[in-house]
Amino acid sequence: MAGTKMTSKTFTLNTGDKIPAVGLGTWQSAPNQVRNAVKVALQKGYRHIDTALAYGNEKEVGQGIKDSGVPREEIWLTTKLDNTWHHIVSEGIETSLKDLDTEYVDLYLMHWPSSTDPNDKKKHLPDWDFIKTWQEMQKLPGTGKVKNIGVSNFGIKNLEKLLNDPSCKTVPAVNQIELHPNNPSPKLVAYCKEKGIHCTAYSCLGSTDSPLYKDPTLLKVAEEKGKTPQQVLLMWGLQHEWSVIPKSVTQARIEKNFELDGWDLSTEEMQKLDNLRDRFKVCGDAWLPVKVFFGDDE
Ligand code: NDP
Repeated sequence: MAGTKMTSKTFTLNTGDKIPAVGLGTWQSAPNQVRNAVKVALQKGYRHIDTALAYGNEKEVGQGIKDSGVPREEIWLTTKLDNTWHHIVSEGIETSLKDLDTEYVDLYLMHWPSSTDPNDKKKHLPDWDFIKTWQEMQKLPGTGKVKNIGVSNFGIKNLEKLLNDPSCKTVPAVNQIELHPNNPSPKLVAYCKEKGIHCTAYSCLGSTDSPLYKDPTLLKVAEEKGKTPQQVLLMWGLQHEWSVIPKSVTQARIEKNFELDGWDLSTEEMQKLDNLRDRFKVCGDAWLPVKVFFGDDE
């Protein structure tokens, strides 16, 4: 695998479309920083950008894409339906497309399995749930506005509920979930694989002020390889066959995070990272009106 070009690697989704293995994340990328981050990333060679209506930066992401000079059709663009827009899916996608200034997105994700009342974010929407949201999302691939649909933050319990509902005609192409060596979710990953759902890893570096950067095992592997801890974390995810979307607004980091060609982690190095004992989760569900995580992988 040492000769593999990870930066041009793709994973084939259940629709036949190919998602680039490495993308740029943009959560907490301020509007005044993200435009340049997206431009720098695309000029370095990234071909996958991840954003969301909830990040409040789709306009600047769209501008960064234009600034880069990279043709739109060469870029994989993912955005997400916000929780307070579940009952108005067609308005949600229109808003994102307008802000991104694009005719289509490659992937549209239901950001969370939580339908929130826009007038009171502590309340679940009456007479609505994510099954109904998915029914609306399933109509999108026919419109030319969305190439693939998927979900995010779905554990096994909610995936079962969705897939077993008679109204579910389209198996999500992707489940975007938190994945790093301190939250590896092996059962959920295996479940998704069995159902033909590709996983994309969010917070793949452990997010802001990542506790992983203090992990002695990771630091040792990185030092011995002559790679940064971030590159090792990304390679660990890629070799597990999920796509990774590291976020940075810092040019040197964006570039370094993409230097993933011509080397790999040995089976032993993978195992060392698989066996890290510490556990933490960046994104919980306490801020939502409903519980969406029910323990490990569920
Ligand atoms: P990441 O794990 O990507 O970590 C981002 C942090 O790491 C930032 O503080 C960044 O700093 C820093 N960083 C990046 N590269 C380096 C480097 N080489 N050296 C040192 N520090 C570095 O965190 P995120 O939580 O942002 O996750 C990635 C993406 O996943 C998000 O941006 C978003 O697109 C998506 N996501 C989706 C969620 C969902 O619910 N579906 C939830 C969370 C994230 P700086 O920017 O200052 O350089």
